[in-house]
Amino acid sequence: MSSAAPFYIGSDVYRKPAFGPNHPLNIVRHAAVLDLLHMLGWLDENSFRESQPATVEQLLEFHSRAYVRALQYANATGKVEPDVRERYQVGTFENPLFPGLFERASMTVGGSILSAELAQKGHVVFHPTGGTHHGRADRASGFCYFNDPVFSILTFLKEGSRSVLYIDFDAHHGDGVEDAFVDDERVTTLSIHEARRWPFSGTHSHPETGVYNLPVPRKINDSEFEFLVEECVLPLVGQVEADALVLCCGADCLAGDPLSKMELSNVALWDAVDRLTGKGLPTVVLGGGGYNPWTVTRYWAGMWGRISGQSFPEKLPAEASEYLRELECDLIDEDEVDEAWLTTLADTPYPGPIRDEIRSLVGHFEGS
Ligand SMILES: [Zn+2]
Repeated sequence: MSSAAPFYIGSDVYRKPAFGPNHPLNIVRHAAVLDLLHMLGWLDENSFRESQPATVEQLLEFHSRAYVRALQYANATGKVEPDVRERYQVGTFENPLFPGLFERASMTVGGSILSAELAQKGHVVFHPTGGTHHGRADRASGFCYFNDPVFSILTFLKEGSRSVLYIDFDAHHGDGVEDAFVDDERVTTLSIHEARRWPFSGTHSHPETGVYNLPVPRKINDSEFEFLVEECVLPLVGQVEADALVLCCGADCLAGDPLSKMELSNVALWDAVDRLTGKGLPTVVLGGGGYNPWTVTRYWAGMWGRISGQSFPEKLPAEASEYLRELECDLIDEDEVDEAWLTTLADTPYPGPIRDEIRSLVGHFEGS
């Protein structure tokens, strides 16, 4: 197992308002994680690395020149022409144009490149602002303008990786990453996501092209998730002889998220990530979706707590609880805010029976 200290990658760019009113991502996420970590005393200067925006040249290693140019132009002029909106899906409700968009999106890519560079040196690297897994080479999709996980993977490949395994725990299928590497035999992708939810892909596995999908029924519980981790996720690391891991840890798979119906506890996710980082491989841990500011903040703050080996308090310090109480979310009524989201970090686990639908997903995996 790697003994090098872990890194947290971030930037003040994410403190600026983004996405505009009425957008599900118009909530405080990354700033809240950092603020909470400081209140807990869990993040020191030596562990924090400021990301730099990717250069246009770097962006072009995956994205098309025409798309990057169109985004730059829209960003500079504050306008999106109808044909550009149609072609690149920017300036829509889903992927709005907002001031600072280009800088923010490029920063996320730069952070994921830096993350893989540091991971390659033996560190576990946490980059919670990463995880824009729906972004396409030539268009925006699902609140994602670029696709930063692709760049972590490309960086590992450039540094000599022969088998990168991408594992996606976000509630939505990691379609952009899967499609980006479907023809590259050095990359395997595995996505656990809610079945019959946008983008409605990821219904099957195609081991011959290194594509694995576990579409799960609504209300997946911790026991079911742990079963899939044990039977599918962990064996795949050995099966593909992975020499680097990229994990997409969207928080929308947690109970309480307004945009999905998975019901996992943050503890189940932390445990899964612990088991993966415990493999001792260069590992990048990214964020992703997540539309409940309380569950997102607790999940990612706790993720860093696990990665950096902190001891978890039973109750959050009063200052942290007051901070969480001030967060707002248009998609969640005040009376739906669980008191535990304000006073604790770790969820009470949600065990349950393992349904046949879950058991039947275990094919294509070694030992099954
Ligand atoms: Zn998602």
